[in-house]
Amino acid sequence: MSYSENLQAVENKITNAVGKSNRQRSDVHLVAVTKTVDAPAMEKLYDLGIRHFGENRAEVFTEKVAAFADKTDIVWHFIGSLQTRKVRAILPYINYLHSLDRKSLADEIEKRATEKVACFLQVNISEEETKHGFNAEEAIAFVSTQTYEHIEIVGLMTMAPNTDDAQALHHVFQGLKALQLEIEKLGIANVPCHEVSMGMTNDFEIAVEEGATFIRVGRALVEEN
Ligand SMILES: *Cc1c(COP(=O)(O)O)cnc(C)c1O
Repeated sequence: MSYSENLQAVENKITNAVGKSNRQRSDVHLVAVTKTVDAPAMEKLYDLGIRHFGENRAEVFTEKVAAFADKTDIVWHFIGSLQTRKVRAILPYINYLHSLDRKSLADEIEKRATEKVACFLQVNISEEETKHGFNAEEAIAFVSTQTYEHIEIVGLMTMAPNTDDAQALHHVFQGLKALQLEIEKLGIANVPCHEVSMGMTNDFEIAVEEGATFIRVGRALVEEN
């Protein structure tokens, strides 16, 4: 399939999922995860109307930001595990950081940032050993005690387990949505927490049904098969 057909197929699934859950297409931002493709491939997505791009490695992120320096309407998402020592180099170019997964990273961002950085707190809802992030209790404790001036917790992010078990996926996404509402209700300064970043190629339809406002889709957009 071409990129155009890929995008059409993804859009059809989003439309289907928002229909099922009584939501609007405009409630959901499609972030194209382009970590496996080069800048010319990204340009094809851009020409199809994609404006949100997600990358997971600091060096590649900066290269791609540089390659698209003339396209000022791109929204850049950093979605990968971020080493503290790389914060300084990429911070100026990040529009959304989806992977705020530990306090030491928040401390470093606070130290380096000169304006507010929109961050998603990464939550390990399924509590898998291999996954990064706060568990639900730690997330609440973190937002309740933080005093950062430059970190704005715009929402929560999770990565679901790699499974075809739809019920298990619904459960994980419901858990993240419930936690988002709980934290939003606390009304903490710099913690609006309106957004939910969840759903990848295998599970974004379920994530949208369960309230995702940002989905991070890679393979479904860029695989040519
Ligand atoms: C790679 C990646 C994605 C996209 O995964 P696909 O299965 O290719 O859609 C989404 N989020 C994160 C954090 C990723 O690393």
